[in-house]
Amino acid sequence: MARKFTGDTLIIASHNPGKVREIAALLDGRVRDCVSAAALDLADPEETGDTFRANAELKARYVAAATDGPALADDSGLVVPALDGEPGIHSARWAERPDGTRDFADAMARLEERLAERGADRGAYFACALALCWPDGHCETVDGHVHGSLVWPPRGGQGFGYDPVFLPAGGAKTFGEMAPADKHRISHRAVALALLRARCFDP
Ligand code: IMP
Repeated sequence: MARKFTGDTLIIASHNPGKVREIAALLDGRVRDCVSAAALDLADPEETGDTFRANAELKARYVAAATDGPALADDSGLVVPALDGEPGIHSARWAERPDGTRDFADAMARLEERLAERGADRGAYFACALALCWPDGHCETVDGHVHGSLVWPPRGGQGFGYDPVFLPAGGAKTFGEMAPADKHRISHRAVALALLRARCFDP
């Protein structure tokens, strides 16, 4: 049996204010207070797992233990099967410059170079694992995916990361061209959150 969230306060194990806002909005009144790990001055543990699930769980377990309360973490990225799953769990690292800043224009160009070299299938999907963990180590973990293909050149200035090259299946606009509310209706994070909501939160 899945464990339900019964408290008032949920710690979101993320320092990204955009993600915390999106998760709080998607939990929509089911939690009285969503607090970010950043607001509590907690560090992010190193992401040493080799799957999205393992990384989401290690982040949520760390924050649950440090705060002695339930914590929710996500890990996400873009998976390209023709490139053996890259950038995958390394999606953020692919864009990192030596000075620590991120350059997604460069990461998207490298992705395109590798695809062109292989002359390969342009299918891709975004994946998101969400883990809700308690201080005793118990975790409820779910995965959400959104399938599509990669376009070149990048299109649209909305969103973040790899959004301008990702065309969801059956759509005409890339994630970079879609209004945020439209993306959030179908995104990998929305799919994962709907699953977690059904499993761990009251309707
Ligand atoms: P995380 O913050 O460790 O989960 O890293 C996720 C990385 O995957 C981000 O830095 C982006 O590169 C990529 N990513 C995840 N979700 C999205 C999305 O919705 N759009 C574009 N890129 C994404």
